[in-house]
Amino acid sequence: MPTETSAEPTPQATITFADFGLDPLIQKAVSEQGYTSPTPIQAQAIPHVLLGQDLMGAAQTGTGKTAAFVLPIIQRILRHASSSASPARHPIRALVLTPTRELAVQVAENAANYSRHTDLRSAVVYGGVDMKEQVATLRGGIEILIATPGRLLDHIGSKVANLSQVELLVLDEADRMLDMGFLPDLQRIINLIPAQRQTLLFSATFSPEIKKLAQSYLRNPVTVEVARQNAAADTVRQVIHMVRSGDKEKAIVKILASRTEQGLSRQCIIFTNSRMGCARLARALERDGIKAGAIHGDKSQGERTLTLDAFKSGAIEALVATDVAARGLDIPAMPCVINHELPFNAEDFIHRIGRTGRAGSTGDAIALVDDSEKRLLDDIEKLMKRKLEIMPLPNIDIPGGNESDDRPRHRSSRETTQRSYSTPTPSRTSAPPADPFFFTPYESPKLANKAEKSDAAQAEGASPQPEVKKVGIVPAKPPVGALLGGFKKK
Ligand code: AMP
Repeated sequence: MPTETSAEPTPQATITFADFGLDPLIQKAVSEQGYTSPTPIQAQAIPHVLLGQDLMGAAQTGTGKTAAFVLPIIQRILRHASSSASPARHPIRALVLTPTRELAVQVAENAANYSRHTDLRSAVVYGGVDMKEQVATLRGGIEILIATPGRLLDHIGSKVANLSQVELLVLDEADRMLDMGFLPDLQRIINLIPAQRQTLLFSATFSPEIKKLAQSYLRNPVTVEVARQNAAADTVRQVIHMVRSGDKEKAIVKILASRTEQGLSRQCIIFTNSRMGCARLARALERDGIKAGAIHGDKSQGERTLTLDAFKSGAIEALVATDVAARGLDIPAMPCVINHELPFNAEDFIHRIGRTGRAGSTGDAIALVDDSEKRLLDDIEKLMKRKLEIMPLPNIDIPGGNESDDRPRHRSSRETTQRSYSTPTPSRTSAPPADPFFFTPYESPKLANKAEKSDAAQAEGASPQPEVKKVGIVPAKPPVGALLGGFKKK
């Protein structure tokens, strides 16, 4: 079992990057990024990783977790840096596995930035794009590889990637990798890595499944968390609007019109549960005169990048996204997050609304809920340990609109316990396999049976599996004002 350390964030104000004793070449890159002090997860994790300990980190995107593992990894493998052109002098020493290509790309950008003054090479491989360029890069030799599991297995299968000299393994967003069904792929990959290695696991939650994964693959890990939190920051104003399913699009139009009227930004992320729903909603909003773009698993990498850039530049005001596509995206603080429907997994709700109210700024998290979703709302409220306020939709006339069930509703305690479920809620009943971790590689370092390669999942296909019900903590967004803008030099 993990060795627990203090869950209290180390007061990072007293720690500087210089205290870590990182090589000057790494320090220089950090300074160039404009970081003045480590974030809490960095302050806590980096010393342990530098000591060679296995580590479980409870942290989400936005906490600075990437640098928390990339910086000490660079330090630990720096002794292997070589200016030789020979590929043989550049075997893979560190492997970072991520669930989605977006996250892989972001981690790779971090790795390239922080190692830029060293002779270490890094690269990223992910599915859904041509293999040729990746093959050429891998053949040339690289020390730090960031990969999504399915594509890495492709490269291993064609003998382009060799993991026999990997010393450090990172499982990033491990909870999401399990949700996406990557466990068999992870098992196959990990069993190709020498047992004498350091393993780091980062996850938004330490669910029983994650703990089991850690038991199988980590040795006496130290646990670090920035904080425990099952609720959004106080800076997020949360509102529920009860809206009939067919009226949700019009409700969004109303909400944005009302924001305009109040002089608030119209920029928002709108979460949907399915790719088809995502694409359909973006098109419908466009027809309603809202500058909208969709980002989901069926979009090519190029399309996603274009959409995200357009959103960042303001050319798109409503980014309609699925959870998987939005996961790991480095989207700046959002003034408003809208849940077009509630997620099947209550923890995803916290991830979603965590996109707003960052770094002390205020934000609105709005959820449109129809009768069929009341059970999901119950789950969310249970997880957050609070009731969410139900409010009427803004009273604004829009052309063709105003059909929503926007009567004020104040839920009585009786109503919360006696909700009627007029339509069936999505299935949450099928349990995960009794023991998905059918062997423990430290005891039995055999190769796993050839598992089916999950190309669909690799191309970041399936939405998070509703049936994988997770319990446990949800780590906090960084303490108010602690991250990002808080530390970057202006
Ligand atoms: P991450 O959680 O790793 O995705 O990081 C989120 C954002 O925080 C990225 O834009 C990083 O560049 C930024 N960041 C990471 N570490 C620091 C730091 N110590 N100070 C300021 N910003 C940071």
